[in-house]
This record gives sequence, structure tokens and C-alpha cells, in this order.
Amino acid sequence: MSRDKFKEMRKDLVKKLVYEGVIRTANVKKAMLTVPREYFVPLSYRDYAYEDHPLPIPAGQTISAPHMCAIMCEALDLKEGERLLEIGTGSGYNAALCAEIIFPSDKEREGLIVSVEIFKELAIFAKNNLRKAGYDDRIHVIVADGSMGAPVRISFDKILVTAAAPDVPAPLLNQLNNGGRMVIPIGSEFFQELYLVVRDIHGNIHRRSLGGCIFVKLRGKYGFTTS
Ligand code: SAH
Repeated sequence: MSRDKFKEMRKDLVKKLVYEGVIRTANVKKAMLTVPREYFVPLSYRDYAYEDHPLPIPAGQTISAPHMCAIMCEALDLKEGERLLEIGTGSGYNAALCAEIIFPSDKEREGLIVSVEIFKELAIFAKNNLRKAGYDDRIHVIVADGSMGAPVRISFDKILVTAAAPDVPAPLLNQLNNGGRMVIPIGSEFFQELYLVVRDIHGNIHRRSLGGCIFVKLRGKYGFTTS
């Protein structure tokens, strides 16, 4: 399929997500229109890149469905120049969407995006995808157990967890700035609710459900399995 054909399919998908009320802001719309999802799925699935479904990626994991990525980006309320931590790099697609908002392609570079992946194989997959799509200079991919937070001594304005957790991992809350937001699927290994966790300016934690969802499980110390 040609580049133009993918672009056309991307436009149609964004139109559908706007119509459905999933994409609500100009920032998220621009990001979804700009990031080429076909670069983030295995070659054999490229033609399905703009179906609104999760797709398989290496190590038995999945790239989330576009509507879920849009819901998470909207809930994070990302702003230019913020510091974002993502747990679960996977294909790198969600991180690229966030990068398009935090560091728009056409402006000076500020902000910070750290994305943590537990499988080395996927970190390599993501780095390649990000390089091909032109986002590798804006996203730091680290191989580690992200349920323990990022192995860096900094805190973040926003945290996005893209794997299902039994509860909010305490180390992640500790890395969230006052006034910050975290989006995280919480529940069982099989189905979850997507939560928006807000840490207010006094440091108090509030959470609310954004609805049901199904993610692959979070591994590691605060996940469902230690390996
Ligand atoms: N955001 C990804 C979705 C990937 S699926 C995308 O846009 O493609 C969830 C990812 O979380 C998987 O790649 C899985 O390997 C990773 N993961 C699971 N447990 C983890 C942990 N404790 N630390 C870091 N990554 C983890």
C-alpha cells in the first residue's frame, strides 16, 4: 500500500474517532493525524494499521487500538513541554502520539519523554519504529521493570501505564508531581477499568474510572507476574 493510501486511511480513522466523541481536542487530533501507525505494527499487519483494533507485536504483546490510545491521550491532558513517563513501550506508537503533543514537530524541543519496557526485544522493536517514523530523538526508551517506576531520579507531570495492573504501583505515585495525572488500567489479568489518577496540588490522590478495557498484563514487582 502506498504512503498516500495510508494517509487517507489515517484521515478516515481520525474522522470516525472525532465523530464518536473519542477525539475531543485539537492536540490529540493533530497527533493522531500525524503519527504513521503503519510504522509501529509488524510488516505482515501493515494493511490493518488503521483498523480500530489492537494488533499483535513481538513477545506476545499488543499495540493498543487507536481509540484506546486517543482516550488515554485525552485523559492525560498533555501540554507542550511536560515531562511524561510511559510504562510499557511496546511498539512505541503511544509514546510517539504523546511526543507529537509534548514536542510538536514544528517547534523548539523542550519537555521529556521516558518510556520503560520490560522486554529488550520490544525496546529494540520500538526504537526501530520510532527512528523510521522520526520520533527517536524525542523519546528515551529504557529496558527495566517499570512497575518500580523509572530508574531515573526525576519526577513527572504525567504517567501513562499501558499494561494492566492489580493496583496503582506505589513507586509510580511517588514519581508523579503534585498537580500531575496518571492513566492506568486496573483490575484482573483478564479485564480492567481504565483509571484517571490525579494528584492534586496538595498531594492528595483522587481517582475515577473512565470505563472498561482489556490490556496485556503488567509484569514485574507490582504486576501480576515477576517474569
Ligand atoms: N504502549 C504500547 C502498548 C504496549 S502493550 C504501544 O503503543 O504499542 C504493554 C507493554 O507493556 C508490553 O510491551 C509489555 O511488554 C510491557 N510491560 C509489561 N510489564 C511491564 C513492566 N513491568 N515494565 C515495563 N514494561 C512492561
